[in-house]
Amino acid sequence: MTELPQEAAPEISEKTDLPHAKARRKGEAKPVPQPPVVANCPYCNARHEIPVEKGKNGKPFFLPCSRCKAEFAVRFVQVTLFQAQVAGFR
Ligand SMILES: [Zn+2]
Repeated sequence: MTELPQEAAPEISEKTDLPHAKARRKGEAKPVPQPPVVANCPYCNARHEIPVEKGKNGKPFFLPCSRCKAEFAVRFVQVTLFQAQVAGFR
């Protein structure tokens, strides 16, 4: 991956609605440690944080809800965010 001076990048790249987008900026070349994936129970909306390893392969799996004890299916989907990289040629 090409090295671009991060400081020279305009403010535009900051304007994103996702709170963790900022943290992604600096480590772009290397894989960023992925925080646990959040899954809300479809029945009672209880929040569960699942380690990425559990669903990394994209296969669905079942998760017992910690609150209502019902099992629900979870599948991890990867989301790609576009970021602008700029370079000047003056
Ligand atoms: Zn539940």
